[in-house]
Amino acid sequence: MILIYPPVAKPCEPPAGIAKLCGALNHHGIKCSVLDANLEGLLSLLKAPPVSSDTWTSRAFRHLPRHLASLNSWDAYQDDGRYRRAIKDLDRLLEMTARSSRIRLGLANYQHEELSPARSTDLVRAAENPEDNPFYPYFRKRLMELLKSEQPSIVGFSLNYLSQALCTFAMIGFLKRECPGVKLVLGGGLTTSWMRRPHWQNPFKGLVDHLVAGPGETFLLSLIDVKGLSGCSERPVGNDHYRPDYDSLPIRDYFAPGPILPYSLSSGCYWNRCSFCPERAEGNPYIAIPVEEVILDLLHLVDRQKPVLIHLLDNAISPSLMKAISEHPPGVPWYGFARITRHLTDPDFCLALKRSGCVMLKLGLESGDQTVLDDLQKGVNLEEASSALKNLKKAGIATYVYLLFGTPPEGLIEARRTLEFVVKHHDCIGFLNLAIFNLPIYGPEAQQMETKTFYEGDLSLYTSFDHPKGWNRQLIRQFLDKEFKRHSAIASILRRDPPVFTSNHAPFFVMNSKHSIPRLPPFSKEGN
Ligand code: SF4
Repeated sequence: MILIYPPVAKPCEPPAGIAKLCGALNHHGIKCSVLDANLEGLLSLLKAPPVSSDTWTSRAFRHLPRHLASLNSWDAYQDDGRYRRAIKDLDRLLEMTARSSRIRLGLANYQHEELSPARSTDLVRAAENPEDNPFYPYFRKRLMELLKSEQPSIVGFSLNYLSQALCTFAMIGFLKRECPGVKLVLGGGLTTSWMRRPHWQNPFKGLVDHLVAGPGETFLLSLIDVKGLSGCSERPVGNDHYRPDYDSLPIRDYFAPGPILPYSLSSGCYWNRCSFCPERAEGNPYIAIPVEEVILDLLHLVDRQKPVLIHLLDNAISPSLMKAISEHPPGVPWYGFARITRHLTDPDFCLALKRSGCVMLKLGLESGDQTVLDDLQKGVNLEEASSALKNLKKAGIATYVYLLFGTPPEGLIEARRTLEFVVKHHDCIGFLNLAIFNLPIYGPEAQQMETKTFYEGDLSLYTSFDHPKGWNRQLIRQFLDKEFKRHSAIASILRRDPPVFTSNHAPFFVMNSKHSIPRLPPFSKEGN
């Protein structure tokens, strides 16, 4: 079996979904090979002599070895100007490589002028014409080598982001043509979202042998044991937890000063109440790994992979899991998403988090207006949010605050309250993410809204709608550009945001290479 992570996604850490599949397969003694075609593909395009000879591109190509070396060490993260130059130059090289294919390509971007990743007919077209894909020279050679050496009977793709979709189908089309006998399996977060749409019908029959929604471990294992499965399948997922296995991934080669270890403590969301939340709309259940296993996994993985940073991937790390990590620190700095709860209003709780290695928390504040928060059922109280931000600042934990503009209960007055809240707490906010609200097409709330008939494609996950207060995207953009972002206190926060890699690289700007975290004994001695 070969498991493939296709381009394009931020190449800063190994793909967690593939590591989980490897863990499950290895646990059952099943051999698999792994190909991070995203990292390899991007590097192959970056290292190819540029087709354009303009000054910027030529200079970027000359500096490429230096840029790559600085992003793979602490150099770039200790010098903001150097970091930004490196990212800009790498993006330039990618952009120029793909320009003739009518594609806007970047380190985290793949946009075709004509083909949409939200239209199944366009994805099938990408599969029918793999040679039109800018990664074709790379993946043709690499896949042929792998097919020859591994002789796989199954090739699985982990498709998580829209920016991966057209390349995934180009690779699928190539494999279908070159080795029609190999079973092709498509899973990952984006595939799951497609399949969770109501009235889902598989548009990829004859191209993809199996589509998998949710964690793919159980499905792949059953596919190997039970021969002759066919068609679009969604198998019941067991609660078996397999420790992720990163041994087959080039964990030291990603764009980071050292290995980042991604790890999920849970799937779904323990809160699961926010209206308009895609996670909730998809009906994904909350499943948390038992705390004892989490601690043992982290200690084992830290010993084996020697990461410089742990990225906790949960939609929201529950307070009980945060407490457990505080009591049993993994010995390496960590960061992740947390809800703003009363726990963070306790200075001792924040200090314990800091001592355990927490360098940054991503917080979904969404709005600085209490009526909006209540209407969205965020379960966030602004007084608590204020206290949490101050405590985290005092404890030395950076915050990456997420704001959402244009939700149905928000209008200009409420958006201005968000501006006031951010300004008032500007010295406690490390980084800001500003997003404009999208209405999930399949959520219960969409039924109550006046939605537009226009949609990008049959695989769209969002729909446009008539905002009840007339607070449409154009007005929101105007407010953000002319008012919100122009406030000097906010502008200085926004300037700190690492371009392209944003929250994935932000922790490196608030920690240093000497970060060392005490490690306390785990719950019990581990067997292996
Ligand atoms: S906390 Fe986040 S993931 Fe959980 S329900 Fe709210 S928006 Fe969704």
